[in-house]
Amino acid sequence: MTLDSTQGVKDASPQDSNPLFQATGSLPPNPFPTNQTTPFWRTELHELNDHRSTTELPELCDVLIVGSGYSGASLAYHLVQSYGDEPLPSIVMLEARQACSGATSRNGGHVKPSPYFTFPQMAELYGVDAAVELAEFELLNVLAVKDLVEKEQIACDYQLTRACDAMLVQSHADQVTAAYKKMQASGVSCIRQVQYTGPRDAEQISGVKGALCCFTFPAAHLWPYKLVMHLLSLVVAKGVNLQTTTPVTSVSKDPESEQFWVVETPRGKIKAKKIVYATNGYTGYIAPQYSEKIIPIRGICSRIVCPGPAPHLPNTYSVRIGHKASDYLIPRADGSIVVGGAKPYLLHDPELWYNVVDDTKIVEPAREHFEGYMQKHFRGWENSGAYTDRVWSGIQAYTTDLVPHVGEVPEKPGQFIMGGFNGHGMPNILLTAKALASMVKEGKPFEEVGLPRVFKTTKERLEDERNLISR
Ligand SMILES: Cc1cc2nc3c(=O)[nH]c(=O)nc-3n(C[C@H](O)[C@H](O)[C@H](O)COP(=O)(O)OP(=O)(O)OC[C@H]3O[C@@H](n4cnc5c(N)ncnc54)[C@H](O)[C@@H]3O)c2cc1C
Repeated sequence: MTLDSTQGVKDASPQDSNPLFQATGSLPPNPFPTNQTTPFWRTELHELNDHRSTTELPELCDVLIVGSGYSGASLAYHLVQSYGDEPLPSIVMLEARQACSGATSRNGGHVKPSPYFTFPQMAELYGVDAAVELAEFELLNVLAVKDLVEKEQIACDYQLTRACDAMLVQSHADQVTAAYKKMQASGVSCIRQVQYTGPRDAEQISGVKGALCCFTFPAAHLWPYKLVMHLLSLVVAKGVNLQTTTPVTSVSKDPESEQFWVVETPRGKIKAKKIVYATNGYTGYIAPQYSEKIIPIRGICSRIVCPGPAPHLPNTYSVRIGHKASDYLIPRADGSIVVGGAKPYLLHDPELWYNVVDDTKIVEPAREHFEGYMQKHFRGWENSGAYTDRVWSGIQAYTTDLVPHVGEVPEKPGQFIMGGFNGHGMPNILLTAKALASMVKEGKPFEEVGLPRVFKTTKERLEDERNLISR
């Protein structure tokens, strides 16, 4: 298996090989390589892409948000919203590379909740009530994003739709069907959103060749970079100081004042009263207690273009060839398809994906995986001429106990985190950020902000030595 760089334009960054980071714990060196692969979503750059609100960094601020992806941007948005007409505290956002250049602009654009598929595992790990909370929270996010897009008139191609999971392997289909029926029998609320189709009609309903059964449920798709850049433009207009290409290299206690944390960057330091880590797979570099709990994981995505007419795809899809090996895809109104996954080309060799921060490369055979994908898997696409236009990689953040870390960092008063969305940030981040904003602003306890209980970052979780990310 070889690694090779992808085609197409590269994102240039002034931050050439970055010697500032020493690997912490087991993390690889240099978290921010230049020449990232260019995802489709970053082919139309926003005017704030390289923005710096001021030429110099401010010396002090009330709230410092590290990271300008979906987490950082929605946290800033909700924080600003919560002040309404009151004067805003000083808020600074530092971003290591360009605005929204991490996982958010490299993902599949799929806002896909998980009302049944991950339920058995979550129920086994955390109990049925906690598993229901997780599923319901993701379903709520689908509509919360719609409400936000409508309220702020965000041109990000949001489409409310249904996701369709098609199962192609008999033993796996049997296992998932049995779990679904068990959920139905137990009457858990989230299963009401799910429609099951059995073997007789699965191919017809899903349009996926060889489907043995399929499940549909509410979902959405959108242009993630456009959503986030719109949020950033709203908060920058309200006075949030955004500084791109400014990596945070360390955070320490201020020796002069109990009130502040000292945040170091290559452009100087800032003293901040409160810090929010919205740093995804890179969190452990500056918050070392997370270095073995939030693991950077490489993901691969592609865009398939169809030159001629092809059957309309009414849903978003997952084509599942086993419990872990699945691809997911969204149909776009421009006729193209964004497909992510290619896991058969990754999973056999952890070195290709586990603890990887390099998004300058794709795993070369993955391109073959996407080539002819629609013709192979979808009815009526055989003569479509669909071809792979672009393949890119991105860094996701998985947690060793499979649920995000959110809330005040244990034993670090004034430091907060939202991260580790396990490849599933789009149906979680918006409402997580809203809840965290009220913790940051009002000091509300985690238990009062309406988040799934298992999201809470705790000392016990940081000391838990299990690693449930299967390698
Ligand atoms: C290929 C791929 C496909 C995916 N597909 C989907 C999907 O279809 N649906 C879904 O729900 N999820 C998907 N995900 C996961 C989803 O993209 C993430 O859960 C989500 O984008 C995380 O958002 P974030 O803001 O927390 O992280 P990011 O978008 O990664 O933002 C973190 C930001 O922090 C910055 N940063 C980090 N460290 C520092 C530092 N020290 N100083 C300054 N800045 C720093 C980074 O540069 C980055 O811009 C996918 C991910 C990938 C990589």
